[in-house]
Amino acid sequence: MATVYETVIGLEVHVELATETKMFCGCPTAFGAPPNTQVCPVCLGLPGSLPVPNARAIAYALKAALALECEIDPECRWDRKNYHYPDLPKGYQITQYARPLARSGHLRFSITETNGDTVDREVRIRRLHMEEDTGKSTHEGLPGTSTGVDLNRAGVPLIEIVSEPDIRTPEEARVYLQALRTLLLYTGVSDVKMEEGSLRCDANVSVRPVGEDTLGVLVEIKNMNSFRSVQRALEFEVNRQVDLLQSGGRIVRETRHWDDRREITFSSRSKEEAHDYRYFPEPDLGPCDLTPAFVEQTRQSLPELPTAKCQRYISLGLSGYDASVLAMDPPLASFFDAMLRAGGAPRESAALLTVELLGRLNATGIAIHDPACRVTPSALAELQKLVADGTINGKIAKEVLDEMVQTGATARTVVENRGLRQVSDEGAILEAVRSVLTANPVEVADYRDGKEKLFGFLVGQVMKATRGKANPALVNAVLRRELQGRSE
Ligand code: ADP
Ligand code: ZN
Ligand code: MG
Repeated sequence: MATVYETVIGLEVHVELATETKMFCGCPTAFGAPPNTQVCPVCLGLPGSLPVPNARAIAYALKAALALECEIDPECRWDRKNYHYPDLPKGYQITQYARPLARSGHLRFSITETNGDTVDREVRIRRLHMEEDTGKSTHEGLPGTSTGVDLNRAGVPLIEIVSEPDIRTPEEARVYLQALRTLLLYTGVSDVKMEEGSLRCDANVSVRPVGEDTLGVLVEIKNMNSFRSVQRALEFEVNRQVDLLQSGGRIVRETRHWDDRREITFSSRSKEEAHDYRYFPEPDLGPCDLTPAFVEQTRQSLPELPTAKCQRYISLGLSGYDASVLAMDPPLASFFDAMLRAGGAPRESAALLTVELLGRLNATGIAIHDPACRVTPSALAELQKLVADGTINGKIAKEVLDEMVQTGATARTVVENRGLRQVSDEGAILEAVRSVLTANPVEVADYRDGKEKLFGFLVGQVMKATRGKANPALVNAVLRRELQGRSE
């Protein structure tokens, strides 16, 4: 019988912190400036220059570590990681090795299964440390095979977040990464854009026979530039490893690159990780000194985070799926929270927001937090309340929303200006029902002969006669009574 394999994945994620200036100097960090215009003796590593830690970067890193429920080392240290590369003019990178800022955290998230159920997952965070970014090699606009170096990125503050090998499928790896991105968006410490490189992920993956305790030989994958490519690269790599083992081969520990166009990984450093960075303590920097008061104050400054938000929405009656869709999208969640503050009923507000409003916005390519979105949370909550108190019916609500999206008018204004109030006056409805019955003698006769489906047709005619405004429950009741009355 063929051996069944289990997949084991651990992710190493680099995140650029959204500070104005670099980690150890005052150079700006703005993305997209002409090459080598945001550099100084410190980030170029010129002799005699001295690094000065950026207090805001440390505060941001601490905030991220606390959001990930890590244990903090208030006396964390800086180390030099030594290697030679053109984008690293100093010949070393300042990082944290033996004494990282934080350890032993957790990231919680939920995965939606194909049957629509959500499953809660928790991945342990091994460590979170601070470091500085390297420069970038470029080929753009250069002759032949020559390579340019842009050092604008050298010295930009980073955090590296290393997970334990707790992830079990490529899909879970993608969802972990998306949940991490959402969590960091909530903390506001980074803009976490994979396309611009402010969120970068390396994946470590191995397989082992199910039931085996020791981990398989790991392969590290680099060069994945989107959430989708992380999942695709891991899927490819898992298949490659299982095929290799099943055909009697053996996995070599190596780094492989993902080729997004060909959708394969290929070996890039064949030597079995011969790295020796010769880490040693950074002599120009002392240990950090994070006071308990500062750590506590930072903890208090955290906003409500996705897991707590999701739980709160579920406790208000939302499904696990709806709760997580809202909580995983900060602008959407803040819109929803504002609807709740304006008195919207939770379940109905969630439906109006995620189905009706988002549906209309998506069709025109407008985002919920875009100024072009002319519907405010309180206006949408008001629409929900007009349905709840019977002022309009659910069908008319959709028409009202169409106009709100287009003109920015409030729900009440649209209802009054266009005379869309629901007709709940029984006399008026009775009149409409009677004229419909008189006008459709054939259908009425067929209905009495057992063609039950014609009831729906007759309801439709009454709604049409009242231009959609009749209270549907009342129409049903009156119509049924009238049909019975006439048949007796
Ligand atoms: P280091 O880079 O400090 O030597 P490792 O390479 O062991 O540490 O771990 C780096 C990442 O690889 C971590 O995210 C870890 O969870 C993951 N990892 C370690 N061993 C395996 C394995 N056998 N299979 C998959 N992932 C692994
Ligand atoms: Zn500088
Ligand atoms: Mg490693």
